[in-house]
Amino acid sequence: MTKIKKYVPIVGQGVIDELYFLAEKFGGKTVQNINSTAVGGGVAEILTRMIPLMRQLGVEVLWDVIKGNEKFFSITKKFHNALHGINVTITDDDFKYFVSVNHENAKEINFSGDVLFIHDPQPIALVDMKHEHGKQWAWRCHIDFTQPQADVMNFLQSYIEKYDSAVFSAPAFSRNLSIPQVLISPSIDPLSDKNKELRMDKIDRVLERFGIDKERPIVTQISRFDYLKDPLGVIEVYKRVKQYVDCQLVLAGGGATDDPEGLEVLEKVRTAAAGDSDVHIIFLPPASDIIINALQRASTVILQKSLKEGFGLTVAEALWKAKPVIASAVGGIPLQIAHKYSGILTYSIDGTAYYLKQLLNDQTYANKLGINGKEHIKHNFLITRHIRDYLLLFLSLYHRGDIIHL
Ligand code: UDP
Repeated sequence: MTKIKKYVPIVGQGVIDELYFLAEKFGGKTVQNINSTAVGGGVAEILTRMIPLMRQLGVEVLWDVIKGNEKFFSITKKFHNALHGINVTITDDDFKYFVSVNHENAKEINFSGDVLFIHDPQPIALVDMKHEHGKQWAWRCHIDFTQPQADVMNFLQSYIEKYDSAVFSAPAFSRNLSIPQVLISPSIDPLSDKNKELRMDKIDRVLERFGIDKERPIVTQISRFDYLKDPLGVIEVYKRVKQYVDCQLVLAGGGATDDPEGLEVLEKVRTAAAGDSDVHIIFLPPASDIIINALQRASTVILQKSLKEGFGLTVAEALWKAKPVIASAVGGIPLQIAHKYSGILTYSIDGTAYYLKQLLNDQTYANKLGINGKEHIKHNFLITRHIRDYLLLFLSLYHRGDIIHL
């Protein structure tokens, strides 16, 4: 477990003192997180790192994961896609089944926390237990809500409004709601295996293991194999640039237990890349943090060509390593990248290919983008800022309408 004092050299003593102060104000209450997967994806990533740190601050934190079968997760994946603006058909039976699985889970969960902190749509209907258990309920949304399909949005909104507060990752996702809503961006942990400094020989060993040539440029996208991460678009970008620059492409990622589409996407990606030994498709098991860290550090340029994105933790991870990043201007990515200052924002395959060629040909400019990006992440998107925002949120739940005297 990483000791909280290890963050002092990165963020300063004042930041850590403030966290202890806020935790003390929260006064021995328990926060109970509930989501739908223990591994894979950004939510699990953040909770895994944040919970031990909050416990060191003296906050009691619990984490429960709801259970669901294939049918449930294929419905929640349809929700996910519909919320991201993809046209999908969701039947009345789907909605009913979704609620029934939530209610089944509710029977098994011991709602012992003072604050119930529910993450994303999958467990949203647990809030029906609020009338039995009382307490403070906050709903934390990590996904892109800019163009949701109306039926799913209306269904979810009827649940969101049962909560005491809703939390979104970027201003563009806020809704017209009858409950208070707050903006809290996600974060990365600079001391996790995913982000800590790595020795060069360790990085080289990972490259050797996957047959990647360290002498030629490496272009990487780290993502779950999901259509919304557009891995097929990335291959198209690579093919266009490869005509001019002798580079390699690394597409690395795994699946999440709540995403049934992953293997289908992986197959399509393999077919699209067939026959090119400079395309490395790496299917990663959970807990591949050191490998991801090494691949990011070894990369010349990092892509995140998502069609939709909640926040895009992989962008923050790459920028923290001072890498030049070219990413789509979707979801929370524009919060992380100021175009042509701390990275490049793009809107198309053509645009991404154009800038990739430019950055591969101009290493000085590319390096400058990476250095600026690192500074931006340091000031805005590290885990200490995230814990501070959560503690303030939890405190606010007990001081609705008050001015808090600290
Ligand atoms: N990640 C991982 N293994 C994988 C793919 C992704 O550990 O195979 C991590 C990635 O490094 C990042 C998180 O999962 O920390 C993904 O968060 P992001 O916000 O980029 O996307 P999400 O998967 O939540 O849509």
